[in-house]
Amino acid sequence: MKDKIYDCAIIGGGLAGLSLAILLSRKGYKVILFEKKKYPFHRVCGEYISKESLGFLNHLGLATNQIDYADINEVLISAPNGHHLLRPLSLGGIGISRYFLDNELYKIAEKNGAEIIQETSVEEVNLIQHKYHIKTINNTYVAKLAIACQGKNSNLNKNLKRKSLGPKENYVGIKYHIKTDFSDNRIELHNFAGGYAGISKVENKTYCLCYLTKSKNLKRFNGNIKKMEEEILYQNPYLKNYFTNSEFLFKEPITVSQITFSIKAPIVNQMLVLGDSAGTIAPLCGNGMSLALHASALAEKNIEAYLKEEIDLKKLQEIHQQTWVNQFAFRIRFGALIQKLFGKTMLTNISIQILKQFPSVVDYIIKKTHGKPF
Ligand SMILES: Cc1cc2nc3c(=O)[nH]c(=O)nc-3n(C[C@H](O)[C@H](O)[C@H](O)COP(=O)(O)OP(=O)(O)OC[C@H]3O[C@@H](n4cnc5c(N)ncnc54)[C@H](O)[C@@H]3O)c2cc1C
Repeated sequence: MKDKIYDCAIIGGGLAGLSLAILLSRKGYKVILFEKKKYPFHRVCGEYISKESLGFLNHLGLATNQIDYADINEVLISAPNGHHLLRPLSLGGIGISRYFLDNELYKIAEKNGAEIIQETSVEEVNLIQHKYHIKTINNTYVAKLAIACQGKNSNLNKNLKRKSLGPKENYVGIKYHIKTDFSDNRIELHNFAGGYAGISKVENKTYCLCYLTKSKNLKRFNGNIKKMEEEILYQNPYLKNYFTNSEFLFKEPITVSQITFSIKAPIVNQMLVLGDSAGTIAPLCGNGMSLALHASALAEKNIEAYLKEEIDLKKLQEIHQQTWVNQFAFRIRFGALIQKLFGKTMLTNISIQILKQFPSVVDYIIKKTHGKPF
């Protein structure tokens, strides 16, 4: 593989990696993308995409007008005691499963000429004499540039000793697809002690039920998810209803562990970092996917300038660092702050009661968690 030199190597085929692969490959750049799994696959995600990304998804070549996505324009938030508030979502979002969305983007990237190496994990990346050497278990690939899009809990983050620059509380994410009786235009966020669950529609009359809980909740039940759900999540009457009156479509839930919500450095080992790997926004903002897509949209022009030798690597890194901080750092910190309101039973019960009296404050918070179309 060392005889071929790629323009850009992308590590990780989630939304950040796939969208960048599409943008660069359709301009004629030689792109190679490494994904440790095989498309299509399910991943833990609430599957609500803020509409700020709708135009960009079309720009990537996804014909959203031909997809049976859910159009979501209201949110219901409940406290652990079942008290709730209901508000319209001014921008709103769409519901599409990651199983479908990532697979569509993968097909578009491949059609545009990007080389997609699936079921292959990148172990190491080194910059040697102005070229990046990307090591997988079987091969080493060489590229003019390498971009880190490996998400939040990758082996590569451990190998690169990525440090979180914020709170260290560990969370677990759990997802189901269900058939249930639910409003198609609504997303609901239901709080419970130590976490919260989201439910909204995706394609095929299916609903995504996904929750985040502090790892210590699960440890209390020795890793027994069902027991934890019955003892903790069922305390919220909405969740008890969804868990006991729905058809569950997976044999086992999809899970992810060791999630922290904080900012990491947007440059590592001389690579630009995009998406969750640079900072994970609290899922209750419904915005991590848009941040990943937006980061690639912003990086495209600068990467192109580097590949055309209009700027050097130092300048590229400077611009990326600055852009990333300006665009995303506030939203990630704000999300972490809002998340603190949730998960503590008493505080959430009181917060929902108070916020119900001040709908304009709720609308302001929602607006701050969503970005502007790009
Ligand atoms: C519980 C939960 C609910 C969420 N709900 C929502 C929501 O409703 N709306 C929303 O917008 N966001 C939500 N998010 C966040 C959203 O899922 C992420 O922000 C988004 O997926 C980030 O995209 P990404 O491309 O950065 O990373 P990912 O989508 O995680 O992609 C990274 C990819 O890299 C691959 N990879 C990792 N290491 C390697 C390696 N060494 N070599 C090769 N490949 C590798 C992985 O397999 C993965 O496919 C949620 C997150 C959680 C945890």
